[in-house]
Formats: sequence, C-alpha cells, structure tokens
Amino acid sequence: MKLYARSTIEEIRNRHNFKLSKSLGQNFITDPTVIEGIVEGSGAGEGDLVIEIGPGIGVLTAEAAEAAAAVVAVEIDKKLIPILGETLRGYNNIEVINQDILKTDLNEIIRDRRERGIFDGKVRIIGNLPYYITTPIIMKLLEEVVAADTITIMMQKEVADRINASPGGKIYGAISVAVQYYCTVERIMTVPKEVFIPRPKVDSAVLKLTPRQKPPVELKDTKAFFACIKAGFGQRRKTLLNSLTGALGLSREQVKEVLGTAGIDPVRRAETLDMKEFAAIANAAVDITLSQETD
Ligand code: SAM
Repeated sequence: MKLYARSTIEEIRNRHNFKLSKSLGQNFITDPTVIEGIVEGSGAGEGDLVIEIGPGIGVLTAEAAEAAAAVVAVEIDKKLIPILGETLRGYNNIEVINQDILKTDLNEIIRDRRERGIFDGKVRIIGNLPYYITTPIIMKLLEEVVAADTITIMMQKEVADRINASPGGKIYGAISVAVQYYCTVERIMTVPKEVFIPRPKVDSAVLKLTPRQKPPVELKDTKAFFACIKAGFGQRRKTLLNSLTGALGLSREQVKEVLGTAGIDPVRRAETLDMKEFAAIANAAVDITLSQETD
C-alpha cells in the first residue's frame, strides 16, 4: 500500500469518516518525489532524531522513520491520531504527540530523548507546514533557539521567496532579515499545487534552514536590532529618518545622529539595507541610548 497515493488517502478518509480541515491547513502530499526530497534534503540519517511538524496521515513520518533512529511527530488534530496508529503500525521508532506545535517544548523533547538514549546523532526538523501558522512556527523555532541541526520545511512559495530574498526588492522584509540572521537558507525545491489533496490556491516550496553556529553580524543588543528591523519595515515606504523616529525611544535628532554614526543616508528605506547596515544602525542606537542614560 502506498500511503501517499490519492486512492489510499481517499480510502482512509472514507473508512475513518475523516474530513480534511481547511482551518488546520490540511493539504496532504501525494507525490513520492516531494516526500523523498524533504527527508533526503533534511540530511536525516542513522542515529538522528527527526521531529515532524504536522504529520497528517504520516507520509513524511514513515519516510523519516526509514532514515533516522527515531521520529517524534507533533499533530494537533486528535482525529488523526487513530489514523496514524494504523498507517504507522509497522514502525517501532515513531512517537506521535497530540499537541499544538506552538505550545510544544521542543528543546525538552530533544534533551529527554537524547538522555534516554533514543538517539545520539543530529536533530532534523521537517514538515509540510500548516500554512495558517507558517511564520509563527518558523519564528518559534528560531527565537526559542531550538537545538536543531537542520530545519527542512515546505511552505507557500511566496513565503519561501520572501524568506530567501536579498535587499533591494519589494519582497525583502523583516522575515528575510530575521531568518537569515539565525540561519543560512537554501531552496530545496518548488512544488506545484497539483500534488496536494486538496489542491491549495498557490504553489509551495521547500526551504532548508541551517542554524548558524555564529551570528553573521556582531550585535550589542539583539532586541535593538529586531526593533530597528520592525520599525523600518513597519513603514517601509518611508525614509529611515521617518520610520525610525520613535523606535527605541529615539527622537528625530537622535535618529539623524545614529544614521550618521552608522554611515547610512537618512533618505534610504529599510528595504535597501543589508544585515550589516541594520546591525550598524542598531549598535549606534544602543550607544546613543546608553550615553543618554549615563548623562
Ligand atoms: N505531513 C502531512 C503531509 O504532508 O501530507 C500533512 C501536512 S498538512 C499541510 C499540515 C498538518 O499540520 C496537518 O496534519 C494539520 O492537522 C497539522 N497541524 C495544523 N496545525 C497544527 C499545530 N498547531 N500543531 C501541530 N500540527 C498542526
């Protein structure tokens, strides 16, 4: 039985009277090359732990269980739990947790499974993400500094393009800088909408995010860096002088000074800045705030 086949998915749906939930972002993969692409792309191998976000009926889960020492799959929909019990029956290295991924302490799972000797290798996070919470999931993984070696995830192509964007274009934004600060980004493949059940409105893409060992820029205060990015892109059509005024409690005069110290023309807009330039602004802003405090 091929788990990913449309006929199998239909048969499981009918027998379990399971209705695909649009609000939970349930679009299941029916193409084996996409399944292989995600699992192989993740680098999962002997000794590794794979954590899967949203297993659905378990197509990626089963493929990952063939490659890795163990798989922990976190699925919010309790109706899928008995189905997964059936489809993954043949594997003794898969654990399904019925929980909201946004409320799951992944570092605790990793620490516990390593301590119990369930795996001794690397940690691979994979998933065909529920699209309604793509950004919150990615930001959770990065901000909580989940101890993953790789994060290989499918998302709407448009979101993947934004994450992977370079300075200068309309699609370059806060999420591009944020993700690229934490990780290197690689596109594994583009996936046409036709391969999903049900078919979504847009195509998808798989990105491999590899958390950096060392930050790409030196920051005096990470919060100030992200506050500058948020303020700059929050009003992206405005000049930096205007969009940054008020951010970090800085007056217009102080923003002028900060931009001067950072060597950035105040009439530029956030979308033209690379990561180093954002870092220079944030570090200058921290200096000015500190010197104010000591006055
Ligand atoms: N992995 C399967 C596949 O590729 O065929 C299903 C992918 S489907 C796009 C997204 C899955 O995430 C669904 O099974 C859905 O129920 C689950 N899901 C949605 N929200 C979730 C959440 N907050 N936490 C965990 N799983 C969630």
